[in-house]
Amino acid sequence: MKIIRELDSISFADWFRSHGGSDGSIKRMWNPIAYALGFIDCENISARCMLTIFQLFATKTEASVLRMLEGSPYEYLHKPILDYLEAREVKIYTRRRVREILFTEEEGETRVTGLVVAKGETQETITADAYVCACDVPGIQRILPQEWRTLPEFDNIYKLDTVPVATVQLRFDGWVTELQDATQRHNLSHAAGIDNLLYTPDADFSCFADLALTSPSSYYREGQGSLLQLVLTPGDPFIKETNQAIAQHVLKQVHELFPSSRQLNMTWYNVIKLAQSLYREAPGMEPYRPPQKTAVANFFLAGSYTQQDYIDSMEGATVSGRRAAMAILENVEPQRRRERGGIGRVHEGLART
Ligand SMILES: Cc1cc2nc3c(=O)[nH]c(=O)nc-3n(C[C@H](O)[C@H](O)[C@H](O)COP(=O)(O)OP(=O)(O)OC[C@H]3O[C@@H](n4cnc5c(N)ncnc54)[C@H](O)[C@@H]3O)c2cc1C
Repeated sequence: MKIIRELDSISFADWFRSHGGSDGSIKRMWNPIAYALGFIDCENISARCMLTIFQLFATKTEASVLRMLEGSPYEYLHKPILDYLEAREVKIYTRRRVREILFTEEEGETRVTGLVVAKGETQETITADAYVCACDVPGIQRILPQEWRTLPEFDNIYKLDTVPVATVQLRFDGWVTELQDATQRHNLSHAAGIDNLLYTPDADFSCFADLALTSPSSYYREGQGSLLQLVLTPGDPFIKETNQAIAQHVLKQVHELFPSSRQLNMTWYNVIKLAQSLYREAPGMEPYRPPQKTAVANFFLAGSYTQQDYIDSMEGATVSGRRAAMAILENVEPQRRRERGGIGRVHEGLART
């Protein structure tokens, strides 16, 4: 892992070419993969980031299987976690925005004293033993007290950048990826076609899937056909386009990839544009990612953009959360025990919106 970390300053494309890899291979195979992983191409993604993930695929056989959730992320990912936490008396507050981090500076030591949390027009100050700020890059850049920027570890966060992305969903009255059998293609009584995540170098979307096939519990609808979800990368050219223009553009490219889908009608579409999504895993940026433990004794950072070896992903976010938890246990709990002579609970200070 150490050797891979040292490859952060070069792009994956430069690293690949330096080992005899061809531009054709980058264009046809590695770019769609880089787009799918980090929403940027091989010239713009750090070698560290790509090699870390491929080392994982190479060494853990179960990690190299492509899988989609059975249904919606809420039902199949978040809800089991929420149920687990709530069964242990954790209270989760959503639709609240942290407006301000309150702090004191005494004898050279900075400590957070509370968070100003807003819900609509009302706001309250919450206090805790430890505060974890589990934001995305735009969120942390907005919320950090400007006074803290005198410390490089906080100021460096403002050097981090994000990537734009647009996600498109198209519903059809038949099965888009059923290339062989025309009867199956139009038969809406059951799903047909390719049941997996798909990649292409020949369209503006690098990776896509028919959710009605891959995640049927939430997305297969009786009497309806494919629900294609396609991720447009790079997202930059699409952010200013109208949703209708984007949907028509994508439909045209779907027709080129799957000529038989011209026989089908698109019955519905939806476009979600995120001007600032993932942390941009560009070469040379690793030194600017903050550790979970900060110079402020009771203030911790989590989130995929903080220091962790995976790409900006759910795994990356999870690893960062574990590291933040370890840092709290090592730094805050011993002090609490000393002060109160017992074991107490550590609160998560930042509510997710
Ligand atoms: C289109 C798309 C597809 C993706 N597909 C996959 C995939 O298939 N697999 C995968 O592993 N990853 C995927 N990802 C990446 C994954 O979503 C992220 O890596 C992951 O969500 C990062 O988690 P996080 O907790 O670091 O940040 P986030 O999930 O971004 O959470 C940060 C939260 O902080 C909140 N916040 C910010 N400021 C404040 C504030 N002041 N007060 C309160 N809350 C605040 C934000 O609203 C946000 O909800 C995808 C991302 C996108 C955009």
